Amino acid sequence: DLDLPRPKNRRIITVANQKGGVGKTTSTVNLAAGLALHGLKVLVIDLDPQGNASTALGVEHRGGVPSVYEVLLGEISVADAAAKSTQSDNLYCVPATIDLAGSEIELVTMVAREGRLKEALNSEAVEALDFDYVFVDCPPSLGLLTVNALVAAHEVLIPIQCEYYALEGLGQLLRNIELVQSHLNPALWVSTILLTMYDGRTKLADQVTAEVRDHFGDLTLRTVIPRSVKISEAPGFGQTVLTYDPGSRGSMSYLDAAREIAERGAERKTA
Ligand code: ADP
Ligand code: MG
Repeated sequence: DLDLPRPKNRRIITVANQKGGVGKTTSTVNLAAGLALHGLKVLVIDLDPQGNASTALGVEHRGGVPSVYEVLLGEISVADAAAKSTQSDNLYCVPATIDLAGSEIELVTMVAREGRLKEALNSEAVEALDFDYVFVDCPPSLGLLTVNALVAAHEVLIPIQCEYYALEGLGQLLRNIELVQSHLNPALWVSTILLTMYDGRTKLADQVTAEVRDHFGDLTLRTVIPRSVKISEAPGFGQTVLTYDPGSRGSMSYLDAAREIAERGAERKTA
C-alpha cells in the first residue's frame, strides 16, 4: 500500500552529527523502515564501523561479508553489497564490518578520496535497483567517511538530542557541510532537523526544542521522537522499533517523521 508520495528523483539523505549517541543510527534505520513499510524502496548505507545500523536491520556484518569497505575500495559495487533487510521486502542495507575501522586512514592516500561513495552510487547496476531513498548513517566524527557521505548526498538530516549541550558542536558540523558545499557538492543542503530522545517530563527538553526551532525554523520536523525504552530495545533483537513494537509511541513517532519527510519532498523552499 503506497500512500506516501514517491519522489520524482532518488533522494540521498546523509544522517550526520559528529556527536555520538544522539540518535543517528536509530533515526536512520527507523525512518528507512517507515518509508519501506509504506511501499517505497529504500537503501541504508552503514558507514559506521560499529555496524549498528546493519544489526538493527537484521543484516549480517561479521568480517568477510561483502560490505561498504569493499565498495569504497572500488572492489565491488553497491548492488553486490546490498543485502535485503529482515524488516521489509523493500529495504536493503550495505553493511559495515570492522574492516571499515581502518578506512579513515586508508582513504587518505586514495585517488578521489572524498568522492568514492558518490562514484559507487552512480552506477547502472544501482540505477536498475530503482531506490526511492538512500540513507547514509555516519560515524561520530567529521573524518573522510562522513565527508564521503556528504559528497554523495543531496540532503543532510541532523538528529539533535533534547539534552544539555544539544547545540554544542553543531557550528562545526554546519561549517563542514558548507565546505563540502562550496568545494565538492554545491547541491548539498541541510533539509531536515529531527529532535530525538524528547522527555516531556523535563523543562530542559522543551527549552532545547524551542531553541532548535528558533534556530532552524521549518527545517525542523514537527514530529519529535520521544525517549522510549522500546526504541532502545529493538536493535538487541535485530529489529527496528516498527516491527519490534508497532503500536508503541516510538514506532508511531518514527512513522510520522517518515511521512513528514516524504510529504515535504526534496524541494528546497526559498523564503
Ligand atoms: P548515534 O548513532 O548518534 O551514536 P544511536 O542511534 O546509536 O546514536 O543512539 C544512542 C543510544 O541511544 C542507543 O543505545 C539507542 O538505542 C538509544 N536511543 C536512541 N534513540 C532513543 C530514543 N528515542 N529513546 C531511547 N533510547 C534511544
Ligand atoms: Mg550510530
